[in-house]
Amino acid sequence: MADCIFCKIAAGELPADVIHQDADLLAFRDLNPQAPVHVLVIPRTHWSGLDAVPADAEATLGRLLAVCRTLAVRLGLSAGYRVVVNSGADGGQTVGHLHLHLLGGRGMTWPPG
Ligand code: 5GP
Ligand code: ZN
Repeated sequence: MADCIFCKIAAGELPADVIHQDADLLAFRDLNPQAPVHVLVIPRTHWSGLDAVPADAEATLGRLLAVCRTLAVRLGLSAGYRVVVNSGADGGQTVGHLHLHLLGGRGMTWPPG
């Protein structure tokens, strides 16, 4: 997608603090962190959000979660962490490229805002 910032990060055309990448996925630090650890995990494929992932690509959803779990270990989040997917306007999604937020390093509250 030409105008998508996360596609540009995935292509190396925009700078980001990338902490994991493989053939399908990329993880990088959020520009405006909401916790001591705040990482975004994205598929390289441009899907506008959770609802846009086709049925034949659902395995990628599992991989996104699995990378969150692996990164949580690597980043020392043994006390716990939160994985969030904001979806659509009511969900608070602001970037139209599917991403998982991995948040940790402080106690989280519930309900979220
Ligand atoms: P959303 O609100 O869509 O769930 O989350 C979008 C996230 O992307 C926000 O936490 C925001 O700080 C982050 N973000 C927006 N633009 C950039 C950017 O150019 N680089 C990085 N690393 N994060 C970004
Ligand atoms: Zn994109």
